[in-house]
Amino acid sequence: MILNNQKEKRSDSTLWAFAANRLMEEQKLEWTFLKNNYDDLAGVVTRSFEIEGINIVVQNNPARIISTTADTDNAAINNRPCFLCLNNLPAEQKALEYGKHYLILCNPYPIFKEHFTIVHKKHIPQNITSNFDDLLDISEKLGFQYTLLYNGPRCGASAPEHLHFQAASKKVIPIENEIAYLKRINEQNILRGDKIEITFIEKFLRFGFLFESDNKNELLQTFKFFVRSFKNVSKPNEEPMMNIISSYNNDYWRVFIFPRKTHRPSQYFAIGADQILVSPAAVDLGGLIVLPRPEDFEKINIGQIADIYSQVTITKEYFEYLKARLAKGYKI
Ligand SMILES: [Zn+2]
Repeated sequence: MILNNQKEKRSDSTLWAFAANRLMEEQKLEWTFLKNNYDDLAGVVTRSFEIEGINIVVQNNPARIISTTADTDNAAINNRPCFLCLNNLPAEQKALEYGKHYLILCNPYPIFKEHFTIVHKKHIPQNITSNFDDLLDISEKLGFQYTLLYNGPRCGASAPEHLHFQAASKKVIPIENEIAYLKRINEQNILRGDKIEITFIEKFLRFGFLFESDNKNELLQTFKFFVRSFKNVSKPNEEPMMNIISSYNNDYWRVFIFPRKTHRPSQYFAIGADQILVSPAAVDLGGLIVLPRPEDFEKINIGQIADIYSQVTITKEYFEYLKARLAKGYKI
């Protein structure tokens, strides 16, 4: 483990994106396992579906089987070393130091051509309520080339015990290329305030929220209010389940939030031909569904995709509740 000693302040997002890109190139030269997995990604096959004008891409990615089938209950976690802690990283793994608290690492099991994991230096639990500020900050700094992802501890994070985000090559996640269409078909569901615009995503196969603003403080306040509201309809004493896709474009943030009802759909637990090994996380909610097994990739159809989204995201009732709370309580 060699830490890049990058202490100088990097305020320009092009510099951060460049540094992350350089780290990736260096790692490919020095770490055969990682290089092979990125090379294999070039041969990974995809299928595209169009449902009511909405684009969904399915990726058959065998290397993701570990993450898809990760056992993330407390007993399993207590019985294994944390794979995001500094001492347990592979010997070949290098890191780019980000501020005082984070390390940018190349993800050796990629979904994207460039795929990073951004881990907190300390072994502290996955939690967005206290770290949304950091997510916005990193989204801005890496925004020139990358989009940030957050998976809640019970809905997609394979290391729920250690705070981390992911960064993906920008505009690879289908929903990022469909903003105009998404907003057009949800036009009746857009709140336009002085400092923030909120799109309530109702017509897009899955319920969600899009916050857009150039004002960080406004985003922080809105998110805080959103979480407080979501807690009212979630399990007590746990972070409400959600996935987040956050990017920074032309001086403003674009943050998708997909509140979740459950981690895995019934197809995951089915037996025989009915089984589909899928564990939806932020990327899948963004319209890029990762299936490690070829048989699942071959057989999945539009009906199953819609059904999987419907099972794992919140009900219309909860969506309407959150929408009403944000619209009324936040007084835009
Ligand atoms: Zn850890």
